Amino acid sequence: MKKKSRDVQTISVYLGASPGKNPLYAEKVKELGCWIGKNGFDLVYGGSKIGLMGMLAESALEAGAYVTGVEPQFFIDSVLQLDKLDELIVTKTMAERKAKIIELADIFIAFPGGTGTLEEISEIMSAISLKLIDGVCIVYNLNGYYDHLEALLDHMTEEGLVLPENRNKIHFCRTLPEIASVIESGT
Ligand code: AMP
Repeated sequence: MKKKSRDVQTISVYLGASPGKNPLYAEKVKELGCWIGKNGFDLVYGGSKIGLMGMLAESALEAGAYVTGVEPQFFIDSVLQLDKLDELIVTKTMAERKAKIIELADIFIAFPGGTGTLEEISEIMSAISLKLIDGVCIVYNLNGYYDHLEALLDHMTEEGLVLPENRNKIHFCRTLPEIASVIESGT
């Protein structure tokens, strides 16, 4: 049985509960999960077995990561949780789940996903701007998936509604090596 270590950095990944149409998402999410495990990080995520979420957790577990799922009771009632997780934390609401994931993680990555993913990573961007958390915020801009979000944030900054210093804390990375170097720099 694996044990969670206090000295290890924990990565939270927000991502689609669907698999998406392009097989690239499955390929790259498995690569990300494997990379998390091989590089000695722990993973915390939404806890589900479906879509890209399940693929990420399975590959991270296989690569040796300690994987924590944080799942609201109503998803457990629908039997959506991945059974082989190292740890499953059950919350009452989605809001509690998001707060718990933020509490547990040091690094926040948005992989391609839908509105759930967008909501989760927006909360991180806002919390970092407000200095409520000081984690690393990374948007995995795989295949340009988040180009429009990047352009929107640049527009907000140009219009003076996002401070440049806060914009600079949101890292858009197209590749895993780019993600690794942002994490290494710890910004
Ligand atoms: P989406 O990006 O809309 O597919 O939503 C995925 C994100 O929202 C995940 O990071 C989850 O935390 C949450 N979420 C949305 N739908 C589900 C679901 N059916 N099971 C678990 N989590 C979900």
